[in-house]
Amino acid sequence: MEKGFILWFTGLSGAGKTTISKALEPELKARGCKVEILDGDVVRTHLSKGLGFSKEDRDTNIRRIGFVAHLLSRNGVVAITAAISPYRAIRDEIRAMEPNFVEVYVKAPLATCEARDVKGLYAKARAGEIKGFTGIDDPYEEPLNPEIVCDTDCDSVAESVEKILTKLELLGYI
Ligand code: ADP
Repeated sequence: MEKGFILWFTGLSGAGKTTISKALEPELKARGCKVEILDGDVVRTHLSKGLGFSKEDRDTNIRRIGFVAHLLSRNGVVAITAAISPYRAIRDEIRAMEPNFVEVYVKAPLATCEARDVKGLYAKARAGEIKGFTGIDDPYEEPLNPEIVCDTDCDSVAESVEKILTKLELLGYI
């Protein structure tokens, strides 16, 4: 059986988690990996439907994603998670449960994410229409020791994908 692992993306909304994970998927498949993406936005419409954005609900959402990712990875799947996952303690909790855990910090300054405003959410948060938006009036706790940092203000999507593949090779996962 192929070796499964969790590739855990974390970063602000609009930093590039979804974009990079989608670009990475075919590259991993081409190398014989089974891949499943647990995208934050998608999870919130299914697995975590009904949850809000309080700290408690965010933690529950992330624990669910971690649990499913763990089930997948132990069955030989590369489980890519692409959720903001703003709280360090919960990310570290999942790392402690899953020995094959690779954290990817998708890093971009708030100003860049806000300028991109892919989903128009920053404008709404600034206008006070959304409360508790990560980076505006809710915390984002940067990873202290991520295995990989994709700096999407400087690295192109292709460069980020390359960076991740190189590190996964180095770690012996692919
Ligand atoms: P997230 O999943 O982190 O919320 P998305 O992937 O949905 O972020 O959105 C990131 C946006 O930024 C996309 O519209 C993407 O095309 C754009 N973008 C611009 N430059 C980059 C880059 N270097 N890496 C990743 N995304 C980028």
